[in-house]
Amino acid sequence: MAESLCPRAGDRLIPLADAQAHVLERVAPLAPARVWTVAAVGCVLAEAISSPEDVPPFANTAMDGYAVRAADTVGASAQAPVELPVVAEVAAGHPAAAALEPGEAMRIYTGAPLPDGADAVVMVERTRRLDDGTRVAIEAPVAAGLHVRVAGDDLRAGDDVFGPGEVITAGHLGVLAGIGVGEVLVHPRPRVGVLSTGDELVDGGGPLAPGQIRDSNRATLLALVAQSGCMALDLGLIRDDDDAISNAINEGAATCDAVITSGGVSMGDLDLVKVVLDRLGDMRWMQIAIRPAKPFAFGLVGERSTPVLGLPGNPVSSMVSFELLARPALRRLAGRSDLHRPAVPAVAAEPFVRSPDGKVHFARVRAERDAGGVLHVRSAGGQGSHHLTAMARAQGLAVLPDGDGIPRGAEVRVLLLEEV
Ligand code: AMP
Ligand code: MG
Repeated sequence: MAESLCPRAGDRLIPLADAQAHVLERVAPLAPARVWTVAAVGCVLAEAISSPEDVPPFANTAMDGYAVRAADTVGASAQAPVELPVVAEVAAGHPAAAALEPGEAMRIYTGAPLPDGADAVVMVERTRRLDDGTRVAIEAPVAAGLHVRVAGDDLRAGDDVFGPGEVITAGHLGVLAGIGVGEVLVHPRPRVGVLSTGDELVDGGGPLAPGQIRDSNRATLLALVAQSGCMALDLGLIRDDDDAISNAINEGAATCDAVITSGGVSMGDLDLVKVVLDRLGDMRWMQIAIRPAKPFAFGLVGERSTPVLGLPGNPVSSMVSFELLARPALRRLAGRSDLHRPAVPAVAAEPFVRSPDGKVHFARVRAERDAGGVLHVRSAGGQGSHHLTAMARAQGLAVLPDGDGIPRGAEVRVLLLEEV
């Protein structure tokens, strides 16, 4: 292929922050849509929710016991209990048929509506049912309101409950179900297509022909997409062929909210993803001042200006590139404002040796907290961009600024990939 077909990335290595800004400036939250509440877990709310009703909707008992008027229990003790007739039983879902009159008690079970006329509940442990079962001995006085959950105690009708920008969690679903909200306006879960490129790649098991390797990036990237809260769509394994790559990217751009490719964005003439993206979209091909994951291409393709992120093919590079560039972009599409992995301080449990090359290195590390909660990190294994096993074991990426590395015992910043 003629050199002129290759778009130029420029000689300059660009800082990671510039590459991230370039992407994030071109990605906007997906237009909000109304969805079934249960399907919205993990999505970002795009409206304010106010409670249409009181929660709880009626006064009810927090304890198993006896509904009484507090005034009737004054002076009660184990030695001198107050004896009251038990006039009814009130269970959850079965309100009392009549009001409680002065001098009466009703047996009541947790969650049951407090009968009219009652103002407190004596817990069953402070009572004794008298032999014939028609009376109860109250062995302790209770104050008005004791063990009563009043209507609106959690939420009052008209209260603001949740607001735009909040991520819907399991707890949010419970609250929304509890106030009868069946649909919510959210930024939809982004649909993200993933494809691999490379003539050397094969899918699945079976014997390998000379020069072949198995496609590992697609499995990894599909899972990373799903773990980022998106819907992952497999766009397949594509040959190093201009038409095949064009068709796959065009189809992905038409059916997905974002497309992630791996391979074909390096310097070589056979790195066709950058060539195709340059033709299809408003593409920028970058050499980022990081290691691994230096080459990266980003374009907006098709009528909907679908973002296409061209990640490098080396398996570790594609994962690191996903973490640094794709994941923040997908989170922005999903309407999130917290885009980046947390960067936390840690202590280097061993020296991290490197030499100056104008790049920030991201070392794959295991992390452990000591008794005082301080994080200590050490290498997760081989640090080559093909050492996928170490990346698989890594809990974080230690940030090694350009220079000679970080000595043992010194502070190092770590992008945590999981909670440690
Ligand atoms: P590329 O970015 O296409 O030049 O690929 C760089 C290196 O990553 C080469 O050694 C490829 O064989 C390898 N590679 C590319 N894509 C994949 C993939 N999907 N799975 C595993 N290795 C890959
Ligand atoms: Mg390739």
